This record gives sequence, structure tokens and C-alpha cells, in this order.
Amino acid sequence: MDKDTPITELKGIGEKTRQLFAKLNIQTVGSLLSAYPRDYETFGEPVKISQAAPGEVCAFHAAVSGIPGEKRVRRLHILNMNIADSSGRLAITFYNMPFLKKTLKQGGFYIFRGMVQSRGNHLLMEQPKIFSLEEYRGLTNRLVPRYGLTKGLTNQGMQKYVRQALSRYEFEPECYDSAVFGENHLMSEREATEAIHFPADYDTLLQARRRLVFDEFFSFLYLMRKNKEFSEQLPNACRMLETADTVRFLEKLPFPLTKAQAKVWQEIREDMGGPSCMNRLVQGDVGSGKTIVAVLALLMTAANGYQGAMMAPTEVLAMQHFETVSEYVRSYALAFRPVLLVGSMTAREKKEARERILSGEANLVIGTHALIQEKVQYHSLGLVVTDEQHRFGVRQREHLAQKGAQPHILVMSATPIPRTLAIILYGDLHISVIDELPANRLPVKNCVVNTAYRPKAYQFIAGEVEKGRQVYIICPQVEGAGEDAEGGAPMENVVDYTERLKNILPADIQVAYLHGKMRPGDKNRVMEEFASHSIDVLVSTTVIEVGINVPNATVMMVENAECFGLAQLHQLRGRVGRGEHQSYCIFISANEKKEAMERLQILNKSNDGFFIASEDLKLRGPGELFGIRQSGEFSFRMGDIYGDADVLKQASRTVDAILREDPDLEKEEHALLRRHLSNAAANSVDFRSI
Ligand code: ADP
Ligand code: MG
Repeated sequence: MDKDTPITELKGIGEKTRQLFAKLNIQTVGSLLSAYPRDYETFGEPVKISQAAPGEVCAFHAAVSGIPGEKRVRRLHILNMNIADSSGRLAITFYNMPFLKKTLKQGGFYIFRGMVQSRGNHLLMEQPKIFSLEEYRGLTNRLVPRYGLTKGLTNQGMQKYVRQALSRYEFEPECYDSAVFGENHLMSEREATEAIHFPADYDTLLQARRRLVFDEFFSFLYLMRKNKEFSEQLPNACRMLETADTVRFLEKLPFPLTKAQAKVWQEIREDMGGPSCMNRLVQGDVGSGKTIVAVLALLMTAANGYQGAMMAPTEVLAMQHFETVSEYVRSYALAFRPVLLVGSMTAREKKEARERILSGEANLVIGTHALIQEKVQYHSLGLVVTDEQHRFGVRQREHLAQKGAQPHILVMSATPIPRTLAIILYGDLHISVIDELPANRLPVKNCVVNTAYRPKAYQFIAGEVEKGRQVYIICPQVEGAGEDAEGGAPMENVVDYTERLKNILPADIQVAYLHGKMRPGDKNRVMEEFASHSIDVLVSTTVIEVGINVPNATVMMVENAECFGLAQLHQLRGRVGRGEHQSYCIFISANEKKEAMERLQILNKSNDGFFIASEDLKLRGPGELFGIRQSGEFSFRMGDIYGDADVLKQASRTVDAILREDPDLEKEEHALLRRHLSNAAANSVDFRSI
């Protein structure tokens, strides 16, 4: 078997299972083996109930005691029971599992495993997993992989198929030579793949992960270096001069640019008027005012008779940019003729928009990446701005070049990274930094609390709404019956939470929800209603993480804050504190463990994205290497630019050494590597965003 063998060749995978795998985007044995576990569970020895500590995941070998009590709260079925061993007793609760009343025999012994919580003097567990003693013996003291699943596929099933695939898979010869292996202390690909799925111990797992992360960084950096060579040779095909338009716009703006904004704007003007094509990254913390800088560059483009395009990672953000620009056009009579291009528009609207772009009638195109990139023909494209998250790669450039365009590129990012890493990761770009926030900002006030604080928080929220302000509440999941958070605490979901909240808050407060699985049209409508203040409280997943700017929103409350990376929480916090009003951030942790709370306290200490990311790194224990997403900007599957900074540097040195010696990988000994990299470039969606 090789990487392209269809998974149906594996024993036990028929049509039905094939379809389930297709949902996970797994069609081949290769993609099955690279569906790495989400995390690993260790099943510790059962302990006595008297040894239970709140915040810890424990397993108890205990008997069901006491008659199970049942109740119903609207659609929720609640089953309460007690368990006991020789040392004490503990209350447990199950949601929507009425059948357990029959399966769990009164007096029967089982293993109950879950997170222990405290309520006053009592200890309890919600939704513990139940095992027979024998079953549990088979699991203890191993690292058991947990895979991302879809309904119908079990974790056990997944393990079985992966084991089978591993035993029948023929790995290709290694693409690195022995010097690369030696210098970087890499495991073989076979060892790494086996160990990432079924690690013998924690050290082996780390080694395996290191190898896979190295591969990922290596391909990324190689392709980026090529990108750099390519773009450095590009002469400026759209030379632009500053006109009165931008000067007048700046005069009319109600605020002066910060010094940092002015400096970056100067750098951009010089680039666009200079001898080579601009390829610039503008890095600035959330709220530092990147949009206005982009608008200035786009205005200069329009004033010089060229078209500009502004790409956003989400439709919601694209719509917001369109609104912002349209408002500027109305207020300041700017020379923009903007057009919007997003997926939820009708086919006819899209066609109309494309016609206006082709004819040159529209001189500013705002939309989501795919739409602007793929189908659109431009009249005279002079500048492409990508806002948040996505880089602009050689392939996209080539694509535009085929259409006869060679625009300037401006990339806007809020990912805080230290300069040494930025140079490696963005080596193909010139870097500008907006390192200053507008002066009129009040620092956001933060608190980190546990779930018992909710009633107070709701009261506070109601108070802010009464004052005319608006509120975001973030939940990690979309709908109920999802998985538990790390450590077994229940995870809040947007849909149920909204229902609950509507009953808790006064009836005249408008509550609505937003999540990524909604139809784009519905998402936009909700976002517009929030922006126009028809909605007071917006319960949302992290879809609003990037870019959203509603200055009237003053409270950001994050449920299950323990599930998010600090850098991500910092981005979320950046959604408030954008206007003149005092803003607040409430981080609610369902994990009572001391470390979880301490980690979140870092957000309390600082409002500086870079400081937060680096502190987070220092605190992260080995168990948290997986599962917490630190940066959405780079679509690495495993690699984390902060946590794996040393591997990143090693990969960077290795790429440099190879390129110095053999820039086009023409030497015989690099043949395998060349093939590997061209596959990586062609197959991997990841590299779309280089
Ligand atoms: P981000 O850098 O996160 O993209 P935005 O560009 O959305 O930030 O700006 C956040 C808010 O700050 C906007 O409401 C914007 O109008 C305002 N803003 C931008 N520059 C300044 C400035 N120099 N002084 C005051 N407010 C500003
Ligand atoms: Mg922004």
C-alpha cells in the first residue's frame, strides 16, 4: 500500500465506512495516516473517592448506590445518582442518557472516569465515562490516541484501521540525506508515523511530533524562499504617485494617524512609487488601526487609475470592510467605486459584480479570498490587500500574472511574533510594524473567574446593555452533545447557551447567535444586526475572532476560556476596547485546576499580544502540546510557531544550506527531495496560503 491507495483496500472498510471517512476528507491510506490524533488520553489507576481532588480527572472503582433521580428541564433529561466505595461517596449527573437508568445496576461495580468538580462541600462528576473493570485494565498507563471523528466512526474503529494501514504501508525512501537527519536529530518517517498514532511513551511521542513538524516547516520555508526569489525580481509595473486624495482624506478624518500608522503609510507610499513591486507585511496588534492604512493604500491606487482588491478570510469581515469603505465614500466623497464579492450573493449579483470589475467601472473590489482570486478578471489591478490570516503566495501571483496583472501586495496581520521569527516566516516580505495603539483608548479591564461567577456576570451584562452598550459571549462549540473539554469539563455550545441566556436576561434584551455552520446569508444578517445595534448580546463561536469592529461593544465574555490559546483569547479581547467606552473582558474557566487559572491570569497582566504569546509558551505543560490552536495565520497541521520555534529555526537553517549548495535541487542526491517538495506544493491545500 502507498499513500494513494484508496482506503477501501483496507479490510473492513466498505461503502458505508468509505462515506464516513469522506466526510473527514480521508480517501486514501496516505490521508488516513496523516489524520493525526487530536490528543492522547492516559487512563490512570483508579483511586479511592476520598482521594478525589476538584479539577482532576479521576477514575473510581465504585458501586451505584442510591436510587437514581430523574428530571426534565425542557429538552434536557437529567439523571442523578450516587456512587460509593469503601472510602466515601460522590454524586454523578448524566445529561440526555435516560437509558443508563436501566444499564447501570443498583449495587453494580463499574469504573467511573471524569473530572471531579466541587459544589460547596460536595464533590460531583458530570457525564463520567463508564467502563467495566476489565475494559479499563486494558487502557491503563498507555497513551491512547483520540481522533477527530464523525458520527458513525468510533475512536476504537479508527485505531483499528490505522493499525492495519501501518502494518501494510510501504513508506517511500527518505527525502533528506543523512546529514540532515544527523544535524536535526530526526526520527525516520516510519518511526514517526507509527509513534504519532501509537506512542510507546511520552518522549517517543515528542520525537515523532518533532519530525513531522520539521517536515511541515521545511516544505513551507523552501516554497517561501522560492517565492521570495520570484518576487524580488519583479519590477514595479504600477508606479503610483501620491495625489491630493489621500492628503485631503487624512485632513478630514476625525482623528490623526498615530505616529506608527504614519510611518507605515510612508513606507507603503515609497514602495508603490519605487522601482520594484511592493511585497509588504503590516504587523500590528489588534486595534492598532490597520484598516485605515489599507484604505489609504487603496485610495492612492484608485487615484492613480488602478483597481484595488481587499481580501478577507471570512465573509462577515468582507462585508464589514465594504460597509466601512462605503461609509467613507459617503462621508468624505472618496474616489472609490467599491464592489462586494462574497459567496452568499446570488449568481446574478456575482456576475454583475464581475462585469463591473472587468470593465474597470469598479475600482475597489472587496470580498473573500476564493472569489477574488479565482474567477475574477480585472481591468487594471494595481494593489491586492489581504487582511488577517492569509498570506499571498507565489501561486496566487502566478495566477494573476496569467491574467496580465502584477499588482503590489500588502498583507495585514495581527499575529504577534518576535522579529527573529517574523524574518523566518515572512522572509519573502518587507515588514512594517504598527507598534502603538490610538491614544484615545481605555485599557480593557479583565477578570478570570470560574463558572460560579456567571450570575454576577449576567447582571453586569444586563447593566451594560441598559447603558446602551453591546456584548459578545463566546462558546467553544456550535451545538450540544459535543465532546468534553480537555480534562473532561463540559463544553458550552452556542445554540443551547443562547436559549438559556434568553431566559436569564431581561426580556427586552435582544440575544442572538452566530456560528460558522450557519448559511452565509444568515451570518451576514446577524452581523449586520449586531453592527446596527438591533442585537444587544451576540453569542458566537470564534468566527468573530478576526477583524470584527463594533466599537459600541464593551463586554467580551468567553466561556470555557481554558480551551483556547492565549493568543487567540487576546484576539477575541481585541473585539472590545475599540471605542471611547470602558470595556471589560470576562474569562470563564470551567477547569478549576490551579494551572488552568494561572495561565489565564496572564491575560490579566498584559494587553500586549507578543508578551502574552511568549508567557503562554513558558507555562504550557507537555500535555498541552496538542489541541490548543495558537495562531490561525499559518495553516500548519501540527507545527506551532511559538512552541516549535526551535524546530522552525533548524528547518530554516537546513533550507538555507541546501539552497546555497543547490538552488534548484538539480543534484542527484536531491532528486527525492525535489519530488517530495513538488508533491507538497501541488497536493497540499496548506500551501494555498503561503
Ligand atoms: P485592527 O488593527 O485591529 O484592524 P482597526 O483598523 O479595525 O484595527 O481599527 C480599530 C478602530 O480604531 C476603528 O474603529 C478605527 O476607526 C479606529 N482608529 C484607527 N486609527 C485610529 C487613530 N489613529 N486614532 C483613533 N482611532 C483610530
Ligand atoms: Mg483589522
